[in-house]
Amino acid sequence: MQEEIKKAAEIICQARKTVALTGAGISVESGIPDFRSAGGLWERFDPMEYGTIQAFRTDPEKVWTMLHEMSAVMKKAQPNPAHKGLARLQKMGKLHNIITQNIDDLHQAAGATDVIEFHGNCKTLVCLACDQRLGAEEIEEGLTPRCACGTILKPNVIFFGEPIPSGALPEAYALVSSCHVLLVVGTSAEVTPASTIPYTAKMAKAKIVEINLMPTVLTESLTDIFLQGKASEIVTKLVHEVERMVSRG
Ligand code: NAD
Repeated sequence: MQEEIKKAAEIICQARKTVALTGAGISVESGIPDFRSAGGLWERFDPMEYGTIQAFRTDPEKVWTMLHEMSAVMKKAQPNPAHKGLARLQKMGKLHNIITQNIDDLHQAAGATDVIEFHGNCKTLVCLACDQRLGAEEIEEGLTPRCACGTILKPNVIFFGEPIPSGALPEAYALVSSCHVLLVVGTSAEVTPASTIPYTAKMAKAKIVEINLMPTVLTESLTDIFLQGKASEIVTKLVHEVERMVSRG
């Protein structure tokens, strides 16, 4: 494994542009379970009943029973060494942008910049009637939040059936079409259109470095270097190796 980490560090050091694509797995060690694993959110709340924009429009009170639970977990979460490691790589100039599918704001909390939030951010609530926006910290714990116009607010995140925030998709494709390394961390790469990003990078001849607890659909078909293990441990080792190579010149 150490040899593989060295190889990955080497190609990151040589690359003119490295981009990261992150998913729910990077935040698991911050206490936010991914949705699909055993015991995850979608095992207890049917995504068709609670996760679609249609479900929210039909019965927002019901969907908020799930959202209260989700936002309580997200409010408590702090960035872990994987988020901090990516932010450190950015400060060193060895990672340029982060495209995240996560809605938890933990990359920014770790000090990362240039983060494209593919699925929105749960720190803001939006009114579907008048487009008013409100900070999630302003709402009262346990109460279903309402806009001044009376409409129940929705977290500013993408529900199934909603489009990706305008600009995020072309921006992400443009970034990965011109990157030399794509670092894929903690995503099953099964949610479209985010799942197409590694393929776009590969078509542009980027090397794919994948960090995950277990192989994914990408591992056999696309990944050049697979680093199996917990994101916090692997990213920390990778950052140390990059630092060592940079300090050696
Ligand atoms: P996913 O749940 O489909 O897959 C998570 C991946 O992370 C899996 O491949 C798993 O093996 C891996 N993983 C789990 N723990 C890990 C660890 N400690 N280290 C390394 N890898 C680990 O997640 P996805 O691909 O991001 O798609 C899920 C969707 O759900 C996304 O759209 C995302 O918006 C949303 N989501 C977000 C959060 C969050 O914001 N933290 C949490 C859950 C789900």
